[in-house]
Parts: sequence; C-alpha cells; structure tokens
Amino acid sequence: MTKIQQILSDALAGYRISEADAAALFAARNRDVWEIAAAADEMRESRVGDTVTYVRNQNINVTNLCINNCGFCGFSRKPGNEGVYHYGRETVMEKAALARERKVTEICTVSGLHPDFTAESYLDIIRWIREAAPGVHIHASNPMEVAYGAGKSGISTSEMLGLLKEAGLGSLCGTAAEILVDSVRRVICPGKIDTGTWERVIREAHALGIPSTATIMYGHVDRPEDCARHLAIIRDIQDDTGGFTEFVPLSFIHMNTPLYRAGIARAGATGREDILMVAVSRLFLDNFDNIQISWVKLGVRTAQLGLLAGGNDLGGTMFEESISKGAGASGTDYLDPAVMQRMAEDLGRRLKQRTTLYGAA
Ligand code: SF4
Repeated sequence: MTKIQQILSDALAGYRISEADAAALFAARNRDVWEIAAAADEMRESRVGDTVTYVRNQNINVTNLCINNCGFCGFSRKPGNEGVYHYGRETVMEKAALARERKVTEICTVSGLHPDFTAESYLDIIRWIREAAPGVHIHASNPMEVAYGAGKSGISTSEMLGLLKEAGLGSLCGTAAEILVDSVRRVICPGKIDTGTWERVIREAHALGIPSTATIMYGHVDRPEDCARHLAIIRDIQDDTGGFTEFVPLSFIHMNTPLYRAGIARAGATGREDILMVAVSRLFLDNFDNIQISWVKLGVRTAQLGLLAGGNDLGGTMFEESISKGAGASGTDYLDPAVMQRMAEDLGRRLKQRTTLYGAA
C-alpha cells in the first residue's frame, strides 16, 4: 500500500487526516489524483447521499470603490478610475425587489471597502434589502467588512456583528479568508485583516448565532502546506462552534489581476489542483456536510467533475456577478437550474433546491 492509499484508507475508516497528510494529498500527481477523488466521492456519498443542492440567489455588490489593493482582485477601483460605481438606496432596493420577483431566496452582498463607509453604511444596506425583499435571506459582509466598519465607527467587531444581526443579517460570508497563512497574505493581500482577526470575527459571529460559510482562494502563490494549514484552521473552528454551513473552494481567476500581471502569481490552479482541492477538503473536513463547487470559478464542465470528487452543492444561480467577471472570468452571470439538473443527472444524481442554511426550499 502506498502512503497515499494508507491515508485514504484511514480516512474512510473514520480516522482524522493530519495536516501533514493533507499537504501530501494536495501534492499528489498521476493516478493518485483519481484515487483521492474516488475516496472523497465515497465519503460524500456516505455523509450526504446523492443529492446535489443549489440555492436561488442574487448578488448585489454595492460599490467597487475600495481603499485596499489586494493583488488578486480585478474588481476594485480607485476614485476617478473608469467604471467606478456606488449604488445608493434606490438602486439597492430596486435590485433587491427584482431579486424577489425572480423568486430568489438569498441575496448576497459584499462590496469594496468604500472610503466613506462606516458601520452604519453596512447596516443601511441590510435594512434597504430587508425593506425591498422581506423574507429573503441576507447573506452579507465578511470578516474584512466587519473589521473595517467597526474600526471606522469605533465599535468592537462583536458589537458590529450584533447590530448587523439586529438589522436582518441572516448569515455572514466567509470570504476574505483567501489563504489563512500570514506569510501568504502579506504577498497577496497585505492590506487585509490577518489570519487571527479573520478567525476571531468568525468565532464572534458563530457565538452570536450568525452562521457563516468558509472559503479558500487558491491557485496563486499558495503551496500544498499553506492549503493544509488553512483547512486545519477551518476544521478547528468548526469543532468548536459548528457555525459553518459549508466549505467553498474558490479557484483564483488570474487574468486581470495585478498579482498575475506582475509575475508573482501562477496563472490560476490547474485542473489537477481544482479536483484535489475539492477532494482533500471533503476528506479532511470531517465535520462539514457540505462542500460547494463554484461553477463561477470553475466553469460548468470542471464543476461537474468537482461533484465527482466530493462536492455535493453547486452554490447559487447568481443573477449578477461582478467579482469574478472583474478578474476576467466569463459566463458568470447566471446558471439556469436546468443546466445544473443536467450536470447532476448526467452523473446519476438528483438536483434539489435548498435554502441558504440547507433546509428544503
Ligand atoms: S478583494 Fe475586496 S478588499 Fe481586496 S481590493 Fe478587492 S474589493 Fe478591495
């Protein structure tokens, strides 16, 4: 038995994979990749069965003005740049009302860090959405926005989270995690909160009864060891709080990003890395039910393969997507559930609509 086979056999027998073993799985080559994917598929089947889920959702990215300069970001703009926008109350409410007409059950909103935003700005956005689309789940802000808004208003992040919840926040976006290794963050997003702050804000949210997603953004300067460290942090938090609804691997879209143009990052993940990210996440995160496959980042065909490598969820229909588009991705606006159905049924699986918190829709 090879080392990889031993790790897989232990994982399927119910033993936890160590961080070092996760790094070894991430570094796998050749036929080992399929063996890892097959083991993850088996684990997916025993944990959540054959149903593939999705949510009807819509993004509202309120502004692309941002004080930060994350090297992987092709979305943000500075004042005076071409294409700068900032939606006010009326536009946000119009978009939210339109979302409701489209029978969307979830509105997501994450934006640039607008120089004038305070905690109140984030609360307003939630209030506007709630007013225009009552009953729709609001999946908004991430630990970076919470830290930014709290800092601008001189309140604690925990206070800000409490206010967001009161205003109608249903769940927190687990983005801004990127890679939870500070040496990597210093290269790809030096202006962002550090690992400890991301973790603290997430734990505070969970303690307040605000669930969140967990994400990883890979395929730039990260090494297998960095991805393994990231997964270990996420698994530890989930052990303590149980507040994560799902894990969402986000493959780096490199085209229009400063990091790639400067020759610092590689040209995104390879297909091997995409498949391994899903598979190793499924095998390592034994305290997660849901591993989401981002069709926005992977495209429909690779996303379908992700469903064969441990994934059980296709995320959202989207209706309006600007962040990956800004970085150079195409076809990110909307995915018809009929296409998702074809993807699932082609694999002998069944598609089912869900709510944000994985209830029946
Ligand atoms: S990733 Fe977010 S915080 Fe970073 S530059 Fe882009 S919009 Fe700003």
